[in-house]
Amino acid sequence: MIILNVAVPVPLRQSFSYTHTEKVPEGTRVSVSFGTRKLVGIVVDCSEASYDVKIDELKAINEVLDTTPLLPDELLTLAKWLSDYYHFPIGETFTSLLPAWMRQERTSVELLGLIASKHLRLTSDGESALANNTKLRDTQRNVLKQLEKAQSREALLKSHSAATIKGLKKKGWVEEFDSIPNEGTSVPQTVSCKPTANIEQGVAIGAMSASLERFSISLLEGVTGSGKTEVYLQVIEQVLSKGKQVLILIPEIGLTPQTVERFKQRFNCNIGVLNSSVTSRKRMHIWLQAKLGHLPIVIGTRSAVFTPFYDLGMIVIDEEHDDALKQQDSLRYHARDVAAVRAKKYNIPLLLGSATPSLETLNNALNGRFKHLKLMQRAASAQRVSQHILDIKHQSIEGGLSDTVIQHMKVHLEQGNQVLLFLNRRGYSPILMCHDCGYVEVCSRCERPMTWHKKTRTMQCHQCETQRPVTNRCGQCQQGNLVADGVGTEQLESVVNRLFPNDRAIRIDRDNTRTKNAFNDLYEEVRSGNAKILIGTQMLAKGHHFPDVTLVVLIDVDGGLFSMDARAQEKLAQLVTQISGRAGRASKKGEMILQTHHPEHPMLQELINNGYGHVARLLLAERRALNSPPFYAQGLVRAESSDANLCLSVLANVKQGVDNDEGFITIGPMPALVEKRLNRYRFILVFRASSRRLLHTALHRAVWLLGSDKQAKKCRWSVDVDAIDFT
Ligand code: ADP
Ligand code: ZN
Repeated sequence: MIILNVAVPVPLRQSFSYTHTEKVPEGTRVSVSFGTRKLVGIVVDCSEASYDVKIDELKAINEVLDTTPLLPDELLTLAKWLSDYYHFPIGETFTSLLPAWMRQERTSVELLGLIASKHLRLTSDGESALANNTKLRDTQRNVLKQLEKAQSREALLKSHSAATIKGLKKKGWVEEFDSIPNEGTSVPQTVSCKPTANIEQGVAIGAMSASLERFSISLLEGVTGSGKTEVYLQVIEQVLSKGKQVLILIPEIGLTPQTVERFKQRFNCNIGVLNSSVTSRKRMHIWLQAKLGHLPIVIGTRSAVFTPFYDLGMIVIDEEHDDALKQQDSLRYHARDVAAVRAKKYNIPLLLGSATPSLETLNNALNGRFKHLKLMQRAASAQRVSQHILDIKHQSIEGGLSDTVIQHMKVHLEQGNQVLLFLNRRGYSPILMCHDCGYVEVCSRCERPMTWHKKTRTMQCHQCETQRPVTNRCGQCQQGNLVADGVGTEQLESVVNRLFPNDRAIRIDRDNTRTKNAFNDLYEEVRSGNAKILIGTQMLAKGHHFPDVTLVVLIDVDGGLFSMDARAQEKLAQLVTQISGRAGRASKKGEMILQTHHPEHPMLQELINNGYGHVARLLLAERRALNSPPFYAQGLVRAESSDANLCLSVLANVKQGVDNDEGFITIGPMPALVEKRLNRYRFILVFRASSRRLLHTALHRAVWLLGSDKQAKKCRWSVDVDAIDFT
């Protein structure tokens, strides 16, 4: 009897034993009964039953789904690594790793059917008809001759009519069958027109070309518009010319369709695009095609990092600093780290690009672990944006706009240019307060103020998306004297419309880009020059370049200066730099104005005077002094429950139970930055260690303690390795 250890999609930290009559390769999908449910599991280990196994107590598997194992060894090993590294149940790790169709009860034959193509071949009757010189029309004879070797229907249709083929099928001389294409890659054509690389680009491309054959990680640090994408394209061209595949990860595709467009224009080949709007069927299709080597290029968001490849030659991550690369629930992986593990396995380069590298990556570039490639100049000779800090203390402010800003907007608009106003707060006003008693309406489930959305006449909780109709009366004293406090994009828009009635303003935030094409339509209005004033949230900070925008205003940066979030300053510095990079082109000089009540703030001063690179180095020095990441390995355990005391006591037990080794500390338990959400209180216990090994030993112990603690079963807990936020 054979024992199969199967990873089953349940939140338990083990695999389960089942019996089967014969051996199956590891990585095979099987259907099993689990309790009363039928689940699809993955075989992680297969062995002969030894004498101490009580076979009678084990269930047999229901069915082997993969007659050909679909999961490559490399992904199986990766899943085991992910489960260990992120302290996450192995069965659920596969849930994050595999396309939905692989997790359903579909056989490998059915799945491979997706990429099969209709082929035609001769039947034995057809063979004899040809051999015996049966009376045939020339066209028929030609088809039969061609089909002496089976061919795809598509290829045959290029030289023969569908009617001829149909006739031969009717005679029983030709039959159709599904053919699954062979594994293997081909070298795609590149389109010949491309810009000549400038010197900096040439140096970067040269450095990459020299290291295509082995594992390395390189940071390409270059201001927005410095030609990073052009560097990717030219290096990718070399990788493709060796018949190898390329994986490109970008944080956001919906907002940056032009990136994909640029790849399509440059390379005349199939490109697999993976983002959240791709159907499960298409996702499976791309997965199989990439695995067989038929997709030279795959571009996708975070989870595309799990795509299998036949012969991967390089991984590129654009905007590597973006937090969207880290999954913030279930398997909390960072796509950059997973990419590094895969690049090492394939022995290929990983190229990370950003105008504002994360502190982790920058630190590795500075200490020599990563190669450091730089583009200091904007390509196509665009100028740098000049940046100003505007002290708005004592200034009159209208809907968030100071007089100075209004005057500057006028100047830029009169010159026929566009203006971008950035405010990271949607809705009309973040607070609606009773003028008589001071009562503020809060979300009952999150205990946070609700945002007033004037257009839809609703109060909305931006944390849990709860909405309710806005009333004219105070919920506490029943008086009707409610006043708005603070400005959101909706209010900013109405103020701008009043102040600049002749310049069309458009707002780009989550509220008005919910439908599929909404964002692209708005974006087109900007490109065409129809819209003069753009008002937006951080959606505008991603990827786009607006050549006719010459003035960028950050309406309110004070929140980021004094946030409880340890990474707030890093994120603010990135945001300011990214936003200012959206403006200006060769012939037009760009300006940026930052409105603040704290013009003397050292971070702002450093940023304006010396740039992001300088701020990042200072923040790194601070992190080193505070024993924080990236100098210390960090992880945390979260506990959530409607009972705050339960969370606290569960985490306190963990704290007590993990040995306080030298070089290892715990901080907390303390409330998470989001203290309550959907009626559940949230607490965290932070782990810091001078080495990854120490961190993992402690987290391992924590998981064990939690698993054997009765109280812990009553709350929801999770582990977050390399946690980047404390929410
Ligand atoms: P990034 O990815 O750093 O933002 P891009 O690669 O998008 O920069 O380049 C910005 C602009 O400059 C694009 O319009 C691009 O076509 C152009 N560009 C890039 N490299 C060159 C070059 N060597 N010569 C001319 N134009 C270039
Ligand atoms: Zn809420």
